Amino acid sequence: MRPGDPHDPLLRQVLPLDAEMRPMPGFALDAVGDTAAKAGDGVIRKYRGRALLVATGSCAVHCRYCFRRHFPYAEEAAAAAGWRHTVELIRDDPGIDEVILSGGDPWSLATHKLAELTDALSAIAHLKRLRVHTRLPVVLPERVDAPLLDWLAALPWPVTVVVHANHANEFDASVDAAMARLRGAGATLLNQAVLLRGVNDDIQALCELSERGFQAGVLPYYLHQLDRVQGAAHFEVDDARARQLHAAMAARLSGYLVPKLVREVAGDTGKRPL
Ligand SMILES: *Cc1c(COP(=O)(O)O)cnc(C)c1O
Ligand code: SF4
Repeated sequence: MRPGDPHDPLLRQVLPLDAEMRPMPGFALDAVGDTAAKAGDGVIRKYRGRALLVATGSCAVHCRYCFRRHFPYAEEAAAAAGWRHTVELIRDDPGIDEVILSGGDPWSLATHKLAELTDALSAIAHLKRLRVHTRLPVVLPERVDAPLLDWLAALPWPVTVVVHANHANEFDASVDAAMARLRGAGATLLNQAVLLRGVNDDIQALCELSERGFQAGVLPYYLHQLDRVQGAAHFEVDDARARQLHAAMAARLSGYLVPKLVREVAGDTGKRPL
């Protein structure tokens, strides 16, 4: 963050504003239907073939646009009750071939906790891939330490780490080094960003995000329209503007630097392209 700049794009992501308290029609507590999709303690089964584990409710930052800002973590974190039930659910469903560790931020869990889970999952023959959605390599790169890398490198599946960076300024030398360590441990690195008014809703910022991420070894994956969660309305960018920005990115960047523009629709089994 640039000291003294109230419009800094990194500050805007974490700064609580009065605007959040204004009730806005169309903005709900559970914006993406997660409560309805819960299959059991900490497991969300709304994506076809994928089981999403709400591994923990803890994060290293509290993002004001977060789609789970009202999620009942205390009742739902899979690690809280031990992993046994979670692992049974996945074992009993051969339709699941990928486990997604989510949260909260799954890498806010101690490495030995993660290892407990993946040791148990490694006995399940129908699992083919593991994915981790985390902001920690960006907001706390020190978390990418030797024990975490040893854990990662020893996993029996190909691993994808989706880091969530919304602005090029989130990358610096220590983040680059953390990304390099992750790639060294064999992970594929992707980025999922949210289109946020006042943070990255201009063509320059979006192109720089793709280019800067790639420089750190991270490929753009999704550019997400905001989930309409209560308290986040001031971040919303309308669809017409989103499409216009996305088209401008496609016109300017190499194809592999253009993320998919998507939104989450409650009840869908995958993201919906705009
Ligand atoms: C969309 C999403 C997923 C899974 O969907 P994919 O289309 O398979 O990537 C997992 N975690 C988060 C945070 C998501 O937004
Ligand atoms: S790190 Fe992710 S889960 Fe945590 S507050 Fe930010 S957006 Fe939400």
